[in-house]
Amino acid sequence: MTAEQEAKREQLEEALSAAGKTLLPDGESQGYVFTLVDGVTVLITRKWRNPKGGYKVAALRTYPEVGDPTSLDAAVRAGELFERQDPDRTRNYGHRGPRVNYMDWRCGDPDCPCSSEPDLQRRMERSIGYRVRMF
Ligand SMILES: [Zn+2]
Repeated sequence: MTAEQEAKREQLEEALSAAGKTLLPDGESQGYVFTLVDGVTVLITRKWRNPKGGYKVAALRTYPEVGDPTSLDAAVRAGELFERQDPDRTRNYGHRGPRVNYMDWRCGDPDCPCSSEPDLQRRMERSIGYRVRMF
């Protein structure tokens, strides 16, 4: 975890604490830090452009980086936003399961497209919501 990501983790911890929630550490992979909010994976990304950016709820299909809600707000509300999501199987991004494993970037739900995607880069893109470059 970089010092910048550590500051991001503290920012999220503070916002969660104000909402009466806690952040659980999970793991790291490909420069992304994996954490859990209400049992839902929140990634701290490698880079961000927005002071409230730098977070991805891996299971969510679409993800706002700027505007309202900010990615910080969405990270705080990860559990609620995941519950509200339509579990459509055909989508290109997001997961059917709430928690994405940092070892293989899969959510473990056999009905999720990630279970049959052999390519790690593709599973990362599914989790992050846009094209990524591998280290
Ligand atoms: Zn999945």
